[in-house]
Amino acid sequence: MTDFQKPGTPTDRHQLGAAGMPLNTLADYRPIPADGYGSLFLPDRIAKGYHLEEIQDGAYYVTSGAYDTMFVRTGNGVVVVDAPPLLGENLKRAIAEVTDEPVTHLIYSHWHSDHIGAAGIFAADKPKVIAHDYTREMIQRWPDLGGERGLPVPTDTITESDTLDVNGVRFNLDYHGVNHTPGNIFIYAPQQKALAAIDIISPGWSAFKHCDASENIRGWAEAHDWILGYDFKAVVSGHVNRYGTPEDAKASRDYTNDIVEFSKEALSHGQEFEYIEKIGFSNAWVLWENYFNEMTNYVTKKTLEKVTDNGQTWAQRLAGADVMTKYHAYSVLEALRLEYGMVSGFEKLILPKAGA
Ligand SMILES: [Zn+2]
Repeated sequence: MTDFQKPGTPTDRHQLGAAGMPLNTLADYRPIPADGYGSLFLPDRIAKGYHLEEIQDGAYYVTSGAYDTMFVRTGNGVVVVDAPPLLGENLKRAIAEVTDEPVTHLIYSHWHSDHIGAAGIFAADKPKVIAHDYTREMIQRWPDLGGERGLPVPTDTITESDTLDVNGVRFNLDYHGVNHTPGNIFIYAPQQKALAAIDIISPGWSAFKHCDASENIRGWAEAHDWILGYDFKAVVSGHVNRYGTPEDAKASRDYTNDIVEFSKEALSHGQEFEYIEKIGFSNAWVLWENYFNEMTNYVTKKTLEKVTDNGQTWAQRLAGADVMTKYHAYSVLEALRLEYGMVSGFEKLILPKAGA
């Protein structure tokens, strides 16, 4: 067993000091609640490599324990949303478990390879492939997104929101504007009350680093409210190991809003600027690093210390919030300057000096 495999064992391998990032251990963070961690190891998931459950009326949720998606039986063809490589062929096995219908429609949520990169497994079925224009543009620009298998190019694209009817089963393909990526569409089956909104929330967990690696932070933050605008039983979110309920979406929305609000506070008046005198102006990047680190720590502390509306802190409610909040805080702080039109107190302070 290596040091990395021993939970709680500190290791100094690859520690680079200030030039690198710290390597942390399990002991540095809160234990993951049983319902967040344990569901990775449901008996059928261990045996089959995936977990499958019906949401409602022929809509199914399928997960590898890290990546998830949904498909819908229509009575004369299956509509599949995305094909994550970490599900791979197991997605086909999951479909075959409940129906003999062929896959007639494939809908891509967005262009990221980690969610659609295995779509080539359905190529022989020659399904209609539906996506936003921007998704097709990315796939044509970078054909290696699907690896050796290749990635079917969308046959039908949308620019604005649209609807799809497959054998009487309705799908709303909703584009609310740029969010996690440009072209990331929400796929909603109203009769099944099933919504696929990928890479916005992670039910029961904090989102992954930097607002789930989103290209537009403001749009990603707003997308939480878009989710709550639907009448849904399940939101399939792409991660982690169960589908989300309206309660999950609300918790993720409130957590995100807290980070945004504390970041606005930090940018406006949360800074001490004590380091400026010590560092001086000879290395601007050290100055900026301290500026962001101080604000990031302010936002992280405020967010994690807050007692939320159910009496718990965010670290108690969302698994991994104590791991990830600092990364979200940094992304939001940067976005406030780029996407929210805020000018920081730091810039107001240093700009005249920089010109002196
Ligand atoms: Zn993505």
